[in-house]
Amino acid sequence: MENNQEIHQKKKFIGIQFECCNVYRRIYVNKDNTAYAGNCPKCFRKVSIRIGEGGTSNRFFKAI
Ligand SMILES: [Zn+2]
Repeated sequence: MENNQEIHQKKKFIGIQFECCNVYRRIYVNKDNTAYAGNCPKCFRKVSIRIGEGGTSNRFFKAI
């Protein structure tokens, strides 16, 4: 039995709070599955959060 939800879970994202501009955004896993990567929508500051071994269960981060 195929489960569509499992397939969709591969496109993981996390919510991140950009302290620089006080704005919340979702960022997505990069293509290598090694980190969440994105940028601030206002000042375009880059942020990347490495995914630890076994993955992180934390779904909310702050970019300070
Ligand atoms: Zn910013």
